[in-house]
Amino acid sequence: MLKREDVPDDLWRPDVVLWAGPRTHFVHYPLRRGELYNLVAVFHSDRYEEGWNAEGSKDVLWQHFKMQRPEVLRLLERIDTWRMWVLCDREPIKDWSNGHTTLLGDAAHPMLQYLAQGACMATEDAVSLAEKVAASPDDLPGAFRAYQESRYLRTGRVQIMARVYGEFYHARGVAAELRNQMLRARSPADSYEGIAWLYGGA
Ligand SMILES: Cc1cc2nc3c(=O)[nH]c(=O)nc-3n(C[C@H](O)[C@H](O)[C@H](O)COP(=O)(O)OP(=O)(O)OC[C@H]3O[C@@H](n4cnc5c(N)ncnc54)[C@H](O)[C@@H]3O)c2cc1C
Repeated sequence: MLKREDVPDDLWRPDVVLWAGPRTHFVHYPLRRGELYNLVAVFHSDRYEEGWNAEGSKDVLWQHFKMQRPEVLRLLERIDTWRMWVLCDREPIKDWSNGHTTLLGDAAHPMLQYLAQGACMATEDAVSLAEKVAASPDDLPGAFRAYQESRYLRTGRVQIMARVYGEFYHARGVAAELRNQMLRARSPADSYEGIAWLYGGA
């Protein structure tokens, strides 16, 4: 994370910006009303370290991003300390409940972060679960079944589409050319339509 004053003026943007590259991508966006600037660098790696707060190596990062555009390199070089997360998901399932027990969020549907939806889906789960329990408070197993029925296809779709978006961002060679050609031909309205299944309502 950078402070606002450490971001060069020509690189500061109020939006979420994503730079796609071969087996990498780089995202930045402002936080806290623009006081901070969050940088997220994603790359394919052979290193596997369990946990959520491991130290990331600056050298390894540079190896993966050295071919990226100058705008990306100028932001990367401003960061000395990186935190590293190993990213994992699972196949979608529909049995989240057992009697008086049910799951929500990552426990029910762990997903890759390429659509930035893990916490969003957990929040939607919570709303749906509360509604179903309120509707039949004397039958919790029934309420839990109704909750998972209302959710599993949507969360499964996000799990699968997050993988697809990851492939799309990290494409190389011909696949990258096709991606660029496809995006060039799309208007902003096409893009909104393409993602309406996600943002158009649960
Ligand atoms: C790098 C990265 C970027 C992400 N970006 C986004 C994003 O932009 N947008 C988005 O919506 N989501 C994003 N996510 C996903 C999001 O963080 C998760 O999907 C979300 O936190 C899941 O919430 P949860 O409550 O299901 O699980 P968690 O947040 O993992 O909560 C589970 C809690 O249970 C606790 N716990 C575990 N075992 C026990 C136990 N035995 N007893 C008691 N407590 C226990 C854990 O300590 C933890 O606090 C991102 C994730 C990562 C790793």
